[in-house]
Amino acid sequence: MLYNNLSGYFRKKYGRRLGKICIDGGFSCPNRDGTCGFGGCIFCGERGAGEHIDATLSIKEQVASALQNASPDEKFVAYFQNFTNTYADVATLKERYDAALTDERIAVLAIGTRPDCIDEEKAELIASYREGREVWVELGLQSASDKTAKIINRGYKTEVFEKACRILNSAGVKVVAHVIIGLPDEGMEEVKKTVDFLTRLPIWGLKIHSIYVMEGTRLADMYERGEYTPPSLEEYTEAAVYVLSHVPKDVVIHRLTGDCPKDMLLAPEWNADKHAVIDAVNKKMKERGLSQGSLYAFR
Ligand code: SF4
Repeated sequence: MLYNNLSGYFRKKYGRRLGKICIDGGFSCPNRDGTCGFGGCIFCGERGAGEHIDATLSIKEQVASALQNASPDEKFVAYFQNFTNTYADVATLKERYDAALTDERIAVLAIGTRPDCIDEEKAELIASYREGREVWVELGLQSASDKTAKIINRGYKTEVFEKACRILNSAGVKVVAHVIIGLPDEGMEEVKKTVDFLTRLPIWGLKIHSIYVMEGTRLADMYERGEYTPPSLEEYTEAAVYVLSHVPKDVVIHRLTGDCPKDMLLAPEWNADKHAVIDAVNKKMKERGLSQGSLYAFR
């Protein structure tokens, strides 16, 4: 096995693949409304990810629509995807999470958020959903470099990620870290530092995104002005192989590519073919005799 991927994890735990229901929970983002910043992260679109979700539907309707043709023995992940899904008071969070968990075929509650929107009270609420299902929180890190954080307008320092990660871990909630390869002004040096940072934290899962320039973002403006050039496929695979071979074997790899809607992708072209990207990473791992964690030095 080259790496411990999510579908393998699901097969082992549930004996099957799990479908994903992507939910727009009606949240905003403090990095857009002025609480900690305006305009959002430079790569983030107007919908805060999840461009394909019909946000005119209520949470219950989104779930019902995703399940309408599902068989009784299928299982699903309810994934709160758009914007910052812990950016509200605890009562509101409870109401919205409860609305998504009305069907017993939902085996996993996954919540995407920013680390500066996690505290002990929210972690406790999220932990309470572990009864009868699996729960994890997905935290956007992107890079461990505070210099990059400024360039991408992330709006929080890297130490905030560490704090949130530890709060969630203490509450018994699993953490999935998101990183992006190919951010402006980043090369292998920054990728190595990000891996070094993450491998010192109690991370359960990892999403590795290949950067993409999406229409309507500030990154798109930078790209069009010639201020940003995305990495080549070769550069991306080199970095991805480094990440995979240096993270512990038990970290579950949730993603290895970026996922830009094809009609909104400006660059790089190779990002449109997810399978080709994954094949290129796998090929490089095999050629070098590497597997996940094979170069991880336990600290
Ligand atoms: S924190 Fe997330 S939702 Fe907010 S601007 Fe950044 S990427 Fe978009």
